[in-house]
Amino acid sequence: MNYDFLNLILEVSIDNNILDDELKNLEEIKKLVAIFLNYFITCNIRNYTKKIDLNESIDNVYGFLKQFDDYGDRFLNILREENDKKYTVSFIKDLSNKQSYTNIDGKVNIFYNESLRDSYTIMHEFIHKFSLHKNKISKIENIIGEVPTITLEHLMKNFLLKKYPYDEVIINKHNDLLASMDKSIEIYTEIILIDLYKKNKRVDDIIINNFLEDLDKSSFEYQFLNKTLPFAIKKIIENKHLSFYVHMRYILGTLTSIYLNDKIKKDSNKIEDLITLINILGNSDLTYKNDIKILNQLDLPFKFEESIIIPDDSVKILTKGYQKEVDNLKKYQRYKIK
Ligand SMILES: [Zn+2]
Repeated sequence: MNYDFLNLILEVSIDNNILDDELKNLEEIKKLVAIFLNYFITCNIRNYTKKIDLNESIDNVYGFLKQFDDYGDRFLNILREENDKKYTVSFIKDLSNKQSYTNIDGKVNIFYNESLRDSYTIMHEFIHKFSLHKNKISKIENIIGEVPTITLEHLMKNFLLKKYPYDEVIINKHNDLLASMDKSIEIYTEIILIDLYKKNKRVDDIIINNFLEDLDKSSFEYQFLNKTLPFAIKKIIENKHLSFYVHMRYILGTLTSIYLNDKIKKDSNKIEDLITLINILGNSDLTYKNDIKILNQLDLPFKFEESIIIPDDSVKILTKGYQKEVDNLKKYQRYKIK
């Protein structure tokens, strides 16, 4: 194992203050990572079975988005939008599950595979495009940027159920949940490595083994880290960087989306909170402080001060919501095996 390179990556990430804000937020995000790890399952991601052409997916997204504000029109305008005679949205057929993305310069790349996944992907990326900050890279976006997109995926699921079978519609949510579990493992192991590095000014085989030796052998933490640490280190070296600051927005997004979806089910007016959130992420007029003030008035399971704050009561509610989702997933997996 190339520990020198790993130590360099850890040093650059921690000591140079590049990730100061993210590290500050990580302390609270740790509580959310624990929710995933305490109720963890392993199962495979599921594949879609129905072929759905791209135009049908675009129709689905338009039909869904036109229920909110002027989102239907904005969707169509962006589809037609050009920059230097090139469309800003590119649709690229890809069967390798490549991740679609929206650049900070406004360019959207959608990788589609002619399944129902495309409807979710297109909607997801367009919500990022609606939320694009015009003047600066938004610091809060790094933390809460996936809250609106994943919550809208929940609502889109209900919309698509009117047209497609349950089995097919639910796959997106299940696969997302599994992907978030994987991300939580990565974040957790990186937290351990960061702590070890801070304590010892270096990480190597001896330091890691001593750390593992000190853990209770029957504990979940030991069993788990014993397996995941070598893989996590290999991955960091391959990527040439840590990943917690990329992943934490998905952890918060997944858990908060369950919370918000529940609220919206009980009171559809709560959709306004979601639209406010999308507007905050994309506004170009208000200052950061004003954004935070509005954000703190919304019905969300977290607050912002210097960094994000997740109260213990919220952790309890988020844990319950998450466990319900995992139970659904388990029930469904069993049903499929029969
Ligand atoms: Zn996203």
